[in-house]
Amino acid sequence: MKTTTLDPRLADVGGIPIARLLPNKGKEPIGAWCFMDHAGPAEFDEGEEGMQVGRHPHINLQTFSWMIDGEVLHKDSIGNEQVITKNQVNVMTAGTGNDQGISHTEQSVFPNTGGSKDAWHGMNMVQLWIALPLDQKIERNFHHYPELPSWNDDKAEYVLTTGDYTTPEGRSYKAPTIQYSKLIGLDVHFLKDAEVALSLEPGMDYGILMVVDGIEYQGEKFEQNQLIRFDDITQKTTITVKGKQGTRIMLLGGEPLNQKVLLWWNFVSDNKEDIEQAITDWNNHHPRFGNVDSELRRLEAPALPEGFKS
Ligand code: MN
Repeated sequence: MKTTTLDPRLADVGGIPIARLLPNKGKEPIGAWCFMDHAGPAEFDEGEEGMQVGRHPHINLQTFSWMIDGEVLHKDSIGNEQVITKNQVNVMTAGTGNDQGISHTEQSVFPNTGGSKDAWHGMNMVQLWIALPLDQKIERNFHHYPELPSWNDDKAEYVLTTGDYTTPEGRSYKAPTIQYSKLIGLDVHFLKDAEVALSLEPGMDYGILMVVDGIEYQGEKFEQNQLIRFDDITQKTTITVKGKQGTRIMLLGGEPLNQKVLLWWNFVSDNKEDIEQAITDWNNHHPRFGNVDSELRRLEAPALPEGFKS
């Protein structure tokens, strides 16, 4: 097994600062997880409206939102309107191919703007993209998962956000979350200072994202918003990580896709031509991306830079 540490770069999404772990300096996706943002944890100032992401399209990917705290209203071009609250997952599937695609908006909501009465005036959310396997014909869809498998041991609380997971003690769990390739996402919240054991399966690549605070792994300290990658796993492996009470991490894994994964703006494909087509289609209001019933502004797709590597 090979391990690598990735540092975040800071970016802005819809007016709030985020830490971006993927894409990262030419590093491959982890399975089909090809984009990894962590927003927060951050409390907004009074009067601040939080994240406001205007109308924008996606192709050949799923957006996967894991809400740790705070609330976000999602609206999309196939008519879904969904508030995601803490401990819930939303998955939006853009579909595959040049006749598919979707567009959406995402905005923070609070008790006075459509959120729950106890919604936090802040946010802690992990947002990931999953590249879709392009040898499958996939239609656009949207799913909301208010209930996910969760369990405790005396050290931590675990929530399985997607996939199948067997604990090192041999208990198995299965999340209801829609998948088109094999993935796993496990949230681990330390209930006290402890060492927690995690299972890694052969044939999968894994990462651990430090969501709140950091962990110690094999004597090395990792800080919030760093990512440890685990590649070349040839046998069932148990790793042990040390965290403090309140530490929160996410174990992400997946079977590598048998295709290139190119990213530009909000688009993913295995070839440059389909990305260029999506830029043209979105900027010309092509019906494949539909309309979102929202006052938020429509974001323009930037042209591919010259020398875009494909
Ligand atoms: Mn989006």
